[in-house]
Amino acid sequence: MPAYKIHEHSFDMVVVGAGGAGLRATFGLAQKGLKTACITKVFPTRSHTVAAQGGVAAALANMGEDDWRYHYFDTIKGSDWLGDQDAIEYMCKEAIPAIVELEHYGVPFSRTDDGRIYQRPFGGMTTRYGEGPPAQRTCAAADRTGHAILHTLYQQSLAHDAQFFIEYFALDLIMDADGSCRGVLALDLSTGELHLFKAQGTVLATGGYGRAYFSATSAHTCTGDGGGMVLRAGLSLQDMEFVQFHPTGIYGAGCLITEGVRGEGGILRNSNGERFMERYAPSVKDLAPRDMVSRSMTIEIREGRGVGEHKDHILLDLTHLGPEVIHEKLPGIAESARIFAGVDVEKEPIPVIPTVHYNMGGIPTNYHGEVVQLKNGNPDEVVPGLYAIGEAACVSVHGANRLGSNSLLDLVVFGRAVANRAAETVKADGAQARLAGDACDEAIARLDKLRNANGDTPTAVIRDKMQRTMQADAAVFRTGETLADGVRKIREIHASFADVKVSDRSLVWNSDLVETYELSNLLGQALATIVSAENRTESRGAHAREDFPERDDAQWQKHTLCSVAEDGTTHIDYRPVHMYTLTDDVEVVPPKKRVY
Ligand SMILES: Cc1cc2nc3c(=O)[nH]c(=O)nc-3n(C[C@H](O)[C@H](O)[C@H](O)COP(=O)(O)OP(=O)(O)OC[C@H]3O[C@@H](n4cnc5c(N)ncnc54)[C@H](O)[C@@H]3O)c2cc1C
Repeated sequence: MPAYKIHEHSFDMVVVGAGGAGLRATFGLAQKGLKTACITKVFPTRSHTVAAQGGVAAALANMGEDDWRYHYFDTIKGSDWLGDQDAIEYMCKEAIPAIVELEHYGVPFSRTDDGRIYQRPFGGMTTRYGEGPPAQRTCAAADRTGHAILHTLYQQSLAHDAQFFIEYFALDLIMDADGSCRGVLALDLSTGELHLFKAQGTVLATGGYGRAYFSATSAHTCTGDGGGMVLRAGLSLQDMEFVQFHPTGIYGAGCLITEGVRGEGGILRNSNGERFMERYAPSVKDLAPRDMVSRSMTIEIREGRGVGEHKDHILLDLTHLGPEVIHEKLPGIAESARIFAGVDVEKEPIPVIPTVHYNMGGIPTNYHGEVVQLKNGNPDEVVPGLYAIGEAACVSVHGANRLGSNSLLDLVVFGRAVANRAAETVKADGAQARLAGDACDEAIARLDKLRNANGDTPTAVIRDKMQRTMQADAAVFRTGETLADGVRKIREIHASFADVKVSDRSLVWNSDLVETYELSNLLGQALATIVSAENRTESRGAHAREDFPERDDAQWQKHTLCSVAEDGTTHIDYRPVHMYTLTDDVEVVPPKKRVY
C-alpha cells in the first residue's frame, strides 16, 4: 500500500455538499446539537443551486386559490405515477412551513402589493385536482431565486456551529464489512492531503450528473460524485432512465431560460410564428410540464417547422410582456439572452432548444433521507449510516418527470428531514465502533492508481465521447435501436477508462486528477442511465420510447434499480412504487391517462 498521510476527524454527522440540500442539512444537524462537518468541492455559494432562477413551489395561496393537496395531486400526475405518494404528501405539506422558515431566515422574496411572497404560475401546477385554472404556486425572488436561497442558507450555516471543509473533494465512502457507512475519505485540494471523516452518519448532497451529457444547463461541477461513490460501494441507483430536458436552453450556449418566462406569459413559436403548444396541450398550452413541451418542440423541429438556418430550434417570444414585467420579474434572463444569444428580449424572441437539465433518478431514499436498498426481499431496507438528499437522491418525489420549482422545495424539505431524523437516531458525541485498519485501503489504492494513470487517452477525450453518445442516444425520444447502439458504445467508453492518462502527478491543485475522478463518477451513471432506459419498454414521463409509445402500468409502474460493477457489469432490479399515504389528509391518486 503506497504511503499517504491521512488526517483523521471524528464527527457525529458529515455532509458532503454545500448546495441548497447540503447547507439546509448542515445547519439543521448542528442546530440539533450534533457535531457536524460539511465537505464541499466548491465554495458553498458557488454550488449549482445558485443558478436556479424560477422559484420554489408551495401552496401558500398568496395570489389566488390553492391548497397543498392540489400540489400533491399535481406532483403525482407530473411524476406520471412513478413518484412515491407518501414522500410526495410529506413534501407538499411541509412546503408551506419550509417557505415561511426560509422567509424568516432572510430570503428576499419578491412581494405582492400587500407585502406577501410573490408567486408565479409554473408548468403542471394547477388547482382543484387538475380541474381548475393554473395555480400561482411558485415563490420567486425575481429570476434569481436559487441565488437568494443559497446565500441565505450559507449565512444561516455560519450562524450555527458546523465545521466547513471547503475545496475538499470527497473520493469514496468508507463502508464496513456489514454494509454500513462509516464516513468518507476526502482530498484537500489545496494541499493534496487526505482526510478521513469518521461519522455516525454520512449525508450525500452532491447534486445531479447533468454533465454526462454534451449540452446541459447544469454547472461543469455537476458530475454526480455521490452517485459514483454509491455505485463503487456496490449499491444501486434508482430510476436513472428519467433525465429531464428543459424546453428552453439557449440554442448553442445551453444555458437556461427559466420556465418562469412562460409563467409570466412568454410563448413558444415555430417557424410559421404559430403558438404550437395550443395543439399539444389545449388547456395549459406553454405551461404544460417539461417532458411534454420538450417533446412537442422536438416534433415541430422534425416536421420541418424549426427556425434558423438549419431549422433546428424554436423561438421563445416575450416581446409582448413589456419592459416593466421584464425589468421587475425577469432581469436575469434578459441579461443571459443578451450575453449568450445576442438578443434584446424586449424586441426579439430568444432561440431555444430542449437541453438536459435535471436528473429524476439518483440514490434511493425514504422520506427521511435514509438510503434504502432491496435486500433479502425487503425493498425498503435502510443502509445504516448513509443518507442522500437533493438532486443526488431519488426519494422519489419527482418520479418520471419533475415539475418546475419542486426541486428547490425538495432541497429544503428533505435537508430538514435528515436533520430531524438524525436527531432521533444519532446520539450526540456517541461512541463509534473502531474502524478496521484496512478500511481505507481500497479508496487509497484507487487514488494512487488514478494519480499515476499512464494510459493513452486523456480524460477530456473519454469525457467528450461519453457526452456526445449520451446526447445522441439517450435523448428526448428513444428507440430500442438507438438505445442498444448507445448501450454498446457507452460500455466501450466505460471500458476505455482503463486506458486513461493523467498527466499531472502532483497532489496540489491537481485539476487533472479531480476531473478524472469526476469522469469515472459520470461514466458509471451514464451506463446506469442508458442501460435502464433500454430496459424500460414503455413511455412514461421523460422516458419517451418511440417503439413503446404507451405507458404500461401493469408491467412498469415500478422503480428501476441499477448497479454497475467496476468492470462495467450492470444488474437491474426493481422496487415497488409507494401507492400509500402517510395520513388520512389525502387519498392515494390512482393512475390515469396524463393529459393537460
Ligand atoms: C440553471 C438551473 C436552474 C434551475 N432552476 C430551478 C428553479 O428555478 N427551481 C427549482 O426548483 N429547481 C431549479 N433547478 C434545479 C435545482 O436548482 C437543482 O436540482 C438543485 O439546486 C440541486 O441542489 P443540490 O443541493 O442537490 O446540489 P448542488 O447545488 O448542485 O450542490 C452540490 C454540492 O455538492 C458538492 N460536491 C459535489 N461533489 C463533491 C465531492 N466529490 N466532494 C465534495 N463536495 C462535492 C459541491 O461542492 C456542491 O456544494 C435549476 C437547475 C439549474 C441547473
